[in-house]
Amino acid sequence: METISIKTKSRNEFVDLTREINQAVKKSGVQEGLCLVYVPHTTAGITINEGADPDVVSDILQHLEEMVPAGKRFLHAEGNSDAHIKSTLVGASQLIPVTGGKLALGTWQAVFLCEFDGPRARNVFLQVVPVGK
Ligand code: ZN
Repeated sequence: METISIKTKSRNEFVDLTREINQAVKKSGVQEGLCLVYVPHTTAGITINEGADPDVVSDILQHLEEMVPAGKRFLHAEGNSDAHIKSTLVGASQLIPVTGGKLALGTWQAVFLCEFDGPRARNVFLQVVPVGK
């Protein structure tokens, strides 16, 4: 298993990890297979969306905030229930096909760590698994 360790900078933020993940896929030597990208955290997530226009990420973050406002009253005493709910909406992992030794992403797709309770130190676990033809 490979680990990407990063420090996020804001409470809510998407961090594009496409390049680092493709480097890990290359290092694994797997040409055809699957890459599991997973966060072992309860207030973060992994998503795939547009990496070209940063306004897309801004719009997603703004609308998640409108859906689950941080200032709302929640039971969880730690005060970060909005971050837990956003994490569950986004999900903790993505499974991405690998072909030709790299992620089979569309032209505009990027893989993001989603931070909902930063700034924090975060780990992203990667497992690259070969698949027979
Ligand atoms: Zn909490």
